[in-house]
Amino acid sequence: MSKKIILTGDRPTGKLHLGHYVGSLRERVRLQNSNEYDEIYIMIADAQALTDHAGTPAAVRENIFEVALDYLGVGLDPQRSTIFIQSQLPQLFELTTYYMNLVTVSRLERNPTVKAEIAQKGFETSIPAGFLCYPVSQAADITAFDATTVPVGEDQTPMLEQTREIVRKFNDVYGGGQSILIEPDILLPSSDVCKRLPGLDGKAKMSKTLGNAIYLSDEADVVAQKVQTMYTDPTHIKVSDPGHVEGNVVFTYLDAFCSDTATVTEMKEHYQRGGLGDVKVKKYLIEVLEETLEPIRRRRKAYEHRPDEVMSMLRTGTTKARNKAAEVLARVKRSMKINYFD
Ligand code: ATP
Ligand code: MG
Repeated sequence: MSKKIILTGDRPTGKLHLGHYVGSLRERVRLQNSNEYDEIYIMIADAQALTDHAGTPAAVRENIFEVALDYLGVGLDPQRSTIFIQSQLPQLFELTTYYMNLVTVSRLERNPTVKAEIAQKGFETSIPAGFLCYPVSQAADITAFDATTVPVGEDQTPMLEQTREIVRKFNDVYGGGQSILIEPDILLPSSDVCKRLPGLDGKAKMSKTLGNAIYLSDEADVVAQKVQTMYTDPTHIKVSDPGHVEGNVVFTYLDAFCSDTATVTEMKEHYQRGGLGDVKVKKYLIEVLEETLEPIRRRRKAYEHRPDEVMSMLRTGTTKARNKAAEVLARVKRSMKINYFD
């Protein structure tokens, strides 16, 4: 039977937040602990971060360490999940170059997530070429490990679609009837709120860039303070007024984090009838979030004081990942008949 392999990761553009947690991290830890996967690769995508942060490499460098701490904090185990740094694998950039020949510029310009990000970053008249091509480099990241499964949030759907297209094209052009590259499947969280967790303002998805996030490393008092600022229902003025739960971020977060669904259902009904104040619901949400965040914060802090151990874990993971990508790259080059000196 063919192997089951996971590849996923995050850009070191900041610390990780609750959106990352419900969109991808929680699922990764569950899959890791299920022992159903033969290999798991978790990538800190520093080269991709540089596609829109080219001028601030020092911040990217610092955030690699922060993301590694977040990983260890949520319970990723380096013995079972290979954690590595993207830029240290030249194989990924070789694959990207070959794949770029199989994609048109107009196809890249149609990518809805990239389009939204270009607008958000004000890149309309000056898109860095590397930024436009990052979906191709993601195809390289995924296929370099023969990944079968990519657990990510919904904004990644167009990237997986692009990867699958490249795989099919590659196999068509170079496979001679064989599958040289593996077509991966996306694995989205099963609940809709977790696929794209909104930010504190309730407007867009929670994002490092938009400043609307609760970070996994936030102290308890900061979390409480952020919950107090959360968007609720502007028409719910007096406690006795009937309130709305749709679009009310406090209830959205309860749906994403509270395992006691009976209590949440009861609170929603009470809120809609009137008589339940925002203060009470927020207080409950703070308790619920602390149940998740307290152990993460504790483990994270323990590693924060052992930076050498964290760096050595990254070095070991990166070496292991590089060896795997080198094997796949050799197979790719053979299929393309550019293995002149074999
Ligand atoms: P940036 O603004 O720098 O792009 P980001 O907050 O979008 O940062 P990424 O590193 O791009 O984070 O995304 C890492 C992973 O987390 C992806 O799988 C993405 O789908 C998931 N993710 C990010 N934000 C959310 C969210 N709000 N809800 C669900 N999943 C999310
Ligand atoms: Mg992003």
